[in-house]
Amino acid sequence: MYDLIIIGAGPAGLTAALYGLRANKTVLVLESKNYGGQIINANNIENYPGIKNISGYDFATNLYNQVINLNGIFKFEQVTKITEDKKVITNKNEYQAKAIIIATGTERRKLNLPNENELIGKGISYCATCDGNFFKNKDVAIIGGGNTALEDTLYLSNIVNKVYLIHRRNEFRGEAKYVEELKNKTNVKLILNSNITSLNGKDTLESITVNNEKIKVQGLFIAIGQVPQNQIFNNVVNLDSNGYIITDNDLHTKTKGIYAAGDTRVKSLRQLTTAVSDGSIAATNAIKEME
Ligand code: NAP
Repeated sequence: MYDLIIIGAGPAGLTAALYGLRANKTVLVLESKNYGGQIINANNIENYPGIKNISGYDFATNLYNQVINLNGIFKFEQVTKITEDKKVITNKNEYQAKAIIIATGTERRKLNLPNENELIGKGISYCATCDGNFFKNKDVAIIGGGNTALEDTLYLSNIVNKVYLIHRRNEFRGEAKYVEELKNKTNVKLILNSNITSLNGKDTLESITVNNEKIKVQGLFIAIGQVPQNQIFNNVVNLDSNGYIITDNDLHTKTKGIYAAGDTRVKSLRQLTTAVSDGSIAATNAIKEME
């Protein structure tokens, strides 16, 4: 029996763990991949108050170590189900909690084009900071118009020969500051009001088709947003039409003792600052309720 079981070791989950442990609660963090969530892929964080800049890896590792130093327990297992009476079932074990915080974040959205899955790792990537170095001095494309696509384009422009940034509208969803920076990059070409209609190549990506024209690229980075993975929780939480978990202001779901924090829940701003805020609110309210 744990006081608090947290599902997901991204910034929201790790912050919840920190708050739980500092309140002397027993805390188990369950994570299916590695600690850090998506922020671990951020090359440079410049909008976290009080820190001028830090890499996503350093931020996540500092937070992870903070939790380890307080004797937080981590198990790298895949959660398959949670029950109303707060049992957590994984691919390996079954655990009981007094309260559960779901902080499972989101996964990268796919273009859903033929060939996409087959070419992953053979030219197609969803993470510029992870795979950018494979494309040194080559030509690559990025698709997307949010902060991820803009940051990735800036990052790749310092590594590769040429970057095509393809976006379906003529205005970007991401911050104006990044757009301004991009305009000063001589090796970045913006292709607006456009979409990719095919991914060409057999064993590796050779070109993409945009506006009926083939553009030769060795790499394509897909940065078209995120999708939540909450179907396994729908017996205990309500989901909105996009699959995000609905909470009240205390981050409580429809089931007593089950909370949701971070990118996985319905909210207006999904950023590092709001993820850590959610983690602290969910843990504090879960602790209050169990006491
Ligand atoms: P996002 O903000 O949701 O942007 C996704 C982009 O992909 C949008 O421009 C969207 O176009 C486009 N798109 C969506 N589906 C598409 C499709 N099927 N085909 C072509 N284009 C498609 O996603 P994100 O950039 O991954 O960012 C996610 C969240 O993390 C955001 O809240 C963002 O601010 C945050 N973030 C913050 C930072 C930072 O603060 N440093 C860094 C990275 C991410 P439309 O604009 O036309 O909808």
